[in-house]
Amino acid sequence: PPALYSTRANAKGWDLAEPEGYAAFEEARGPLHNVTWTAGPIVVPHLGPGPESRVANPGNPDDTVGEVRELLPEDAAAVVEAAKAGVGWAEPSERARILRRVAELYEENAGEFFALAAREAGKTPPDAVSELREAVDFLHFYAAEAERLTPEPRGVTVAISPWNFPLAIFTGQVAASLAAGNAVIAKPAEQTPLIAARAVHLMHEAGVPHAALQLAIGGGEVGAALVRQPDLGVVAFTGSTATAKAIDRQLAETAPAAVLVAETGGLNAMIVDSTALPEQAVRDVVISAFQSAGQRCSALRILYVQEDVADRVVTMLKGAMAALSLGNPWAVSTDVGPVIDEEARDKILAHVAAAEARGDVLTRAGEDRGLFVAPTVIRVPGIEALEEEIFGPVLHVATYKAEAVDAVIAAINAKGYGLTFGLHTRIDDRVEQIVGQIRVGNIYVNRNQIGAVVGSQPFGGEGLSGTGPKAGGPRTLSRLATSGSRARRA
Ligand code: GLU
Repeated sequence: PPALYSTRANAKGWDLAEPEGYAAFEEARGPLHNVTWTAGPIVVPHLGPGPESRVANPGNPDDTVGEVRELLPEDAAAVVEAAKAGVGWAEPSERARILRRVAELYEENAGEFFALAAREAGKTPPDAVSELREAVDFLHFYAAEAERLTPEPRGVTVAISPWNFPLAIFTGQVAASLAAGNAVIAKPAEQTPLIAARAVHLMHEAGVPHAALQLAIGGGEVGAALVRQPDLGVVAFTGSTATAKAIDRQLAETAPAAVLVAETGGLNAMIVDSTALPEQAVRDVVISAFQSAGQRCSALRILYVQEDVADRVVTMLKGAMAALSLGNPWAVSTDVGPVIDEEARDKILAHVAAAEARGDVLTRAGEDRGLFVAPTVIRVPGIEALEEEIFGPVLHVATYKAEAVDAVIAAINAKGYGLTFGLHTRIDDRVEQIVGQIRVGNIYVNRNQIGAVVGSQPFGGEGLSGTGPKAGGPRTLSRLATSGSRARRA
């Protein structure tokens, strides 16, 4: 019988801690520190020009990263019509071969992706490396899945991807649907169209036909116009729960046979009990809450520390945060880069200001300036106090009494989200007990809770956090294809 997982190795990546790896990284991206990219819709039909916009560097408002031309929402129908010719674009083995070729081209163009990750998305060097690595992993993984499952296409896919993983999630969505034989219209986040456009060029260069992959550049209206089209087979979406719900309602009306695969937000918690190793727990808290400036769906939002060790853990946490360097994401010494745009910053800072007014801010590591937001810790009584996901470097901390741990788990579950959860304890029975009760997609014990690995840690949530199947897991392709799949509301 075929193995559940296709066996393959993950990408090696670039080790920035090794002098050679770091030198190669700098050499690859170096010349691209000040070039300006241009991009427009990459579509089959000949269309009139859409509006133009500028892509700014979130870390430096004077740096013009690129100029783009957007798709007009009224042209969405023509793009979907053209995509129909791309459905069933090659035999599964040929799809696999081409996706592997794309992975090679991605690695050959690593420098450009590193430069764009920093300048368009504000990613630090380690995040830029992980971004490329995960994208390459998705390509190999879904190539192998196409061979394992030999899927039959479901139809046209609209893939709407987020700015926080502008290459990795973009590639994951596109590669999965291409592997299934679907024709894809990719609509990247309006903040990060350039990196997506480079990726699409390389996919075409590798042999993906133009009808099988088109790129729609634009904002929410373009995404909404695509999702309104009849005859869609799949909508893949990563973003907010509210938008996912709106898409679901839209599809119920205009494309009821379409499958929706949505990955949305979370209010991710970690529990640190009194038996945990505080040094390790604090290290993992800092990574989980502040790496990528907290702009990950998986990021830690609320830390529950057992009362007996809370003072010690919070004091150590403040110390660790004071050592974080906030600033230019291009610099290899930077730990925390900017948030993506002004709207995001204003929302985060309003949340911090409200906590400050209540006297609940425990520490702010550094000073806010531009789109750089100082990593912040806010005291809360519990997860009930959190109204929504704050997508930035803000961690909430609550304490709990040992006998109340079941109530803590119940409160986390009651929130309705279910993406990631972290646990630090040295008691095996407690691991078993808590893991058995918590309802989330990804659980991490005695480590950080971000950075799921394609193939070995499929990523995705429950409840308000997503529809499944998990990205980079063994069920994705059958959901996107007709063979072995179920109807959307089954
Ligand atoms: N897969 C990423 C992780 O495990 C998170 C993806 C997201 O933020 O949407 O950290």
